[in-house]
Order: sequence, then C-alpha cells, then structure tokens
Amino acid sequence: MSELRLREDLSAIPDYKPGKATAHTAPEVPVYKVSSNENPYPPLPSVASAIADRITLVNRYPETAATALTSMLCARFDVTPANVVLGSGSVEVVSQLMRATAGEGDEVIFAWRSFEAYPMLVRAAGATPVAVALTTDHRHDLDAMREAITDRTRLIIVCNPNNPTGTTIGAEELTAFLDAVPGDITVVIDEAYVHFNERADSPSGIEYFRRYANVAVAHTFSKAYGLAGLRIGYAIAPERLANALRKVAIPFGVTDLAQAAAVASLHAEEELSARVADLVTERERVVAAFLAAGIALPETQANFVWVPFGDATTAAAELLERHGLLVRPFAGEGFRVTIAEREANDLLVALAPELAALVSPVSVAVA
Ligand SMILES: *Cc1c(COP(=O)(O)O)cnc(C)c1O
Repeated sequence: MSELRLREDLSAIPDYKPGKATAHTAPEVPVYKVSSNENPYPPLPSVASAIADRITLVNRYPETAATALTSMLCARFDVTPANVVLGSGSVEVVSQLMRATAGEGDEVIFAWRSFEAYPMLVRAAGATPVAVALTTDHRHDLDAMREAITDRTRLIIVCNPNNPTGTTIGAEELTAFLDAVPGDITVVIDEAYVHFNERADSPSGIEYFRRYANVAVAHTFSKAYGLAGLRIGYAIAPERLANALRKVAIPFGVTDLAQAAAVASLHAEEELSARVADLVTERERVVAAFLAAGIALPETQANFVWVPFGDATTAAAELLERHGLLVRPFAGEGFRVTIAEREANDLLVALAPELAALVSPVSVAVA
C-alpha cells in the first residue's frame, strides 16, 4: 500500500491532543474546566434570544460583509468597513495575518511562552516560527524581540495581556518598540484579554493602529463576551493589509448566528462589563490567597492566573484535579488556571496552602 503524500513541513507540528474529558476525581466531586479561559457565565437572555430569532435562517449562507456588526465596530473604533476583517474566532484572524504576510522561508516573531496556537499556525502557513523567551519575570522581552528581526521577518505578534502568564506591557515600552520596528513589517497586538486589563498605563491597540501604519489589532468575542462556542473575532487593520486578510479568509467562516450574537453582545455591553468586573474581583481574591500562602505570582491582568511552579507543576495539577479543578499545566514550567465560577475560585483559595506546601522549602527539607 502506498502512503499518502502529505506536506513534509507538517511533521514539525505536534499532533493535536484534545483536552482531558474526564477527571480522576471521586464521582461526587464536581468538575470545573478551568483550562481554556472561558467565561463561566451563560449567555445573557438578550443574546440567547438574538440567536434563537435567527435559527430558522440557517439554511442560508451568512452575509460575508456582516453589515450590522461591521457598522457597530466602525462606530465604536472610528474606522471604516475597509479596516474591519472578521474571522471564525480571533485565532482565525491571527492565522489570516500569518498567511497574508508570511510564506516559505519567512519568519514570524512571537514571545514564548505565549498562546499555544501561534507556533502551530505559523507552521501551517509554511513559515518559520521565531519564539523569543519571556523575561525572567514572565513578560515580553521587547528588546530581544527587536533583536530577533531579520530580513525574513514578516510579522510580529505582541500578546497583551499575554496568555498564559497574564503579564502586560506598558504604553511607553510599546512605543519604543514600534519606533524601532521597520515600517514594512506587520505588528499585530493580540488583545484577547483586553477587557480584563486594568493596568493604568496600558497601551490601547486601536490608538496604536491609528499612530502606526504597520499595526493591526486582534479582538475576540470568546472571552469577555462569553461567545467562545460561536467562534467570532475580528481584526482592525490598515486597508491594504485588511484586503489581503480577506483573500486568505475561510469563505463564510463567520456564521449568521455568531454575527447576531456579537451584535446583541455589543448592545448588552453594560451587563457584560459588570460580569467582567466581577471576574476581576474574583481574580484579585484568588491572587491574594495565593500570595498569602507564600506562592510567588507574576501580576495578571487577564481572566486567569499563571502559577510558575517549575518542577512541582505536574504534582500541583494532579492535586487540583483530585479536587475537580482541571487546569492547564505546562510540565516543568507552571500551570494556568482560569478565574471561573465562584465555587471553582473558592476551591483554589481553599487549596492555596496545600499547593504552597508542594514548593515550600519546608516540604523539600521533609522530603
Ligand atoms: C483565546 C485567545 C484568542 C481567541 O480565541 P478565539 O476563540 O479564536 O477568538 C486569541 N488570542 C489569544 C492569546 C487567546 O488566548
């Protein structure tokens, strides 16, 4: 039998591993999936009914121009429809950016550790990922990212706040960075968690899009707006780049239901902001409990917490799993845990001292 001839460069992409379906807990222990930074709140009634209202239209293809949503985004950001490109989640928008700017032999720079999808999508585009290590305090090393620029660099991703560390960059350092990046290289600011970012000197991606002709911004409805299951995100990009993104977009990639839900969410922003504010309060409660237990954490401005547990990461993830918390561990580095339902956050707070014991000098000495 002959083997199918596949693209050889795909062997550099690890096989897809689905997340854990079941936890190793007693059957009576409730299980919380705190591994994907989802919003724990169900859709608002107004959003649910906007979706229900359009269910009977799913025999039709969606409207590619997404007129209603696009015009709302244009009003909000003071841009034109030519600047707005929708995608099936902002992960598709990021993929469009890669495929529109980089091909074989071209390089895409991003921080590492950052969003797991970046290196996979760069390879899928046929380009070369250039991963630049975070600083020792888990932040983007913008100096090192600037030094990584070569003649082959086509795209630079700045993830702010960064997934999985929750760390942020300030306006001053982003300005210095963008002033140093050649104007023919696209820089995308991935602001998937922007609504949770309360840093005072935070750069607004849209402002930078206005100031720099090579800057695009990626936003999603998955996190603060709670529409992860409907898959919708968008880029605000300079017109020429936006045109190129449309050429590589999946045809009809954004469903009518997703468009309707996004429009309804923008109308319900006040209620959704109250939920975001509650999640931020919960985040601070969890962070305070961890710090009080003696666990060192980088400052997070997202809807998750990065716990740099090093060699104790796997043990910590197992301990949490026994109590029903499915976190996202990166063996040898740390784990990321989403701020979720109050019950899940309560569990984290209650388990903080036990977690701390896994890394404290006392437990090392005893062992
Ligand atoms: C979650 C996330 C996204 C967006 O995901 P979609 O559901 O595809 O919109 C984009 N970037 C980062 C860094 C994320 O964590």
